[in-house]
Amino acid sequence: MKLNIHNTFSEKLPADPNESNSRRQVFEAAFSYVNPTPTSKPEIVHVADEVADFLGFSEEDIKGKEFLELFSGAKVAANTRPYAMCYGGHQFGHWAGQLGDGRAINLMEIEHDRKRWALQLKGAGPTPYSRTADGLAVLRSSIREHLCSEAMHHLGVPTTRSLSLIKSGDKVARDMMYNGNVQYEDGAIVCRVAPSFIRFGNFQIFASREDNKTLSKLVDYTIESFFPDIKTGSPASIPSFFEAVAERTLKMIVEWQRVGFVHGVMNTDNLSILGLTIDYGPYGWLEGYDPDWTPNTTDNQNKRYRFGYQPRIALWNLIQLANALYPLSKEAKPFEAVLEKFQSNYKTEFLQMMGKKIGLEQITQQDATLIESLQIALQGTETDMTIFFRLLGDFKINTTIDSEGQFLEVVKSSFYKPEEVKEEVLESWITWFTRYQERLKSDKQSDEDRKTAMNQINPKYVLRNYMAQIAIEAAEKWDYSIVNELYELLKMPYSEQSSNSKWFAKRPEWARNKVGCSMLSCSS
Ligand code: AMP
Ligand code: MG
Repeated sequence: MKLNIHNTFSEKLPADPNESNSRRQVFEAAFSYVNPTPTSKPEIVHVADEVADFLGFSEEDIKGKEFLELFSGAKVAANTRPYAMCYGGHQFGHWAGQLGDGRAINLMEIEHDRKRWALQLKGAGPTPYSRTADGLAVLRSSIREHLCSEAMHHLGVPTTRSLSLIKSGDKVARDMMYNGNVQYEDGAIVCRVAPSFIRFGNFQIFASREDNKTLSKLVDYTIESFFPDIKTGSPASIPSFFEAVAERTLKMIVEWQRVGFVHGVMNTDNLSILGLTIDYGPYGWLEGYDPDWTPNTTDNQNKRYRFGYQPRIALWNLIQLANALYPLSKEAKPFEAVLEKFQSNYKTEFLQMMGKKIGLEQITQQDATLIESLQIALQGTETDMTIFFRLLGDFKINTTIDSEGQFLEVVKSSFYKPEEVKEEVLESWITWFTRYQERLKSDKQSDEDRKTAMNQINPKYVLRNYMAQIAIEAAEKWDYSIVNELYELLKMPYSEQSSNSKWFAKRPEWARNKVGCSMLSCSS
């Protein structure tokens, strides 16, 4: 296997001089060297062929002993020194101090086709940042991370990628719902891939310790490596960098809202500085369109990270990042300007995105009320977000909007309880579709062209929570075929794939309140 190793993070930033694998506070260092813990009987569950390909690994490589050894953590590649990153974070709104890669170990950075990628194992054993936990990950959460990373990429959402999913052969103790019911589960290791895994929290930790020297080194490294348009070396580069991060974060959030993705744990240590979706834990996909929904039972009380709050939480997190960067520039105004721009740009981008979802061509501020009333109508009765928008593409401009609701046939299968679509609910749809039809007429686009455009933005297939759960339950019985089936399905989420239409269906009733489907915890 050819590895074109080109480490930058560990070459350019200060290392922790302590090289023991003991849990501790680490100061004035961006990372600590630590080796993965070899596992007893590693076995490949799945490899994302596309990721392997852009990293330059051949089919032969993937089948080889070296691949299994490297990506299960059994062997460290020659001329590499794995390490865990030091970072802090605000968890659920409170500063939590040092967190760090407690179960992630960066193997190396490699270059292929003039692109540089960092490879990181998740679940390969403890690090100096493991605090009281074991450094491991279980098969169920690793399947969820592996499949969702790839599904998000193919949906067009910025994300970290996942090369491989390997069962460790070891058992891991987990109290899944935090109710004293500890079970032994299969352990697993995912190899994540991204240009960088730096998070907001990597900057926050140094700022919290007033270590401007290391903070400044990290900022310069990040700008020089990933924001080459910004010139380092002057205080003015700091707000420019912040602005670029805000723009990327905004783009990511708009995409989450477009596809109905709920991250579930938007702590500042889980926000990538590159605007990539990172740390797939108790995430979920909106099925019934409900802005107040969160899949994370650990957050059930306050629902801080509910679907509808994601934009404002992103802003809150950006404010924390601004606070962390401020000591390097000491001028508040430019940061405030970026934060204000984030809010106004979000409104504009959201409107454009929603306008496209309903097939509008020239979207203006005047369309905002049409979008708002749609969001309200969608909540009149439980309505499947993905199915509704996909089927809306079949709406014909000359449909008669009748008082009986015949016109709703086109989206009917998105309603969980069609019998509830009467009285006020029906009224709201009559009002909405009447306005919608009027509005479409002003665009003069043919039904066919509109549908084609809509089908490129409204996915047919997303990784519904119950689908991942089916794959998990099969994999726990050594059947990995559904993991692969879903991986292949979700490579083309916008294509009809009529032979796969069983996955274009509402969540089945058995999954409504099932652990793993609607209820997920941080235990993983
Ligand atoms: P998360 O909520 O998954 O983003 O994790 C928050 C922090 O806890 C990060 O520093 C993680 O690395 C760490 N962490 C989570 N699970 C484990 C685990 N099983 N072992 C060690 N550290 C963990
Ligand atoms: Mg995390």
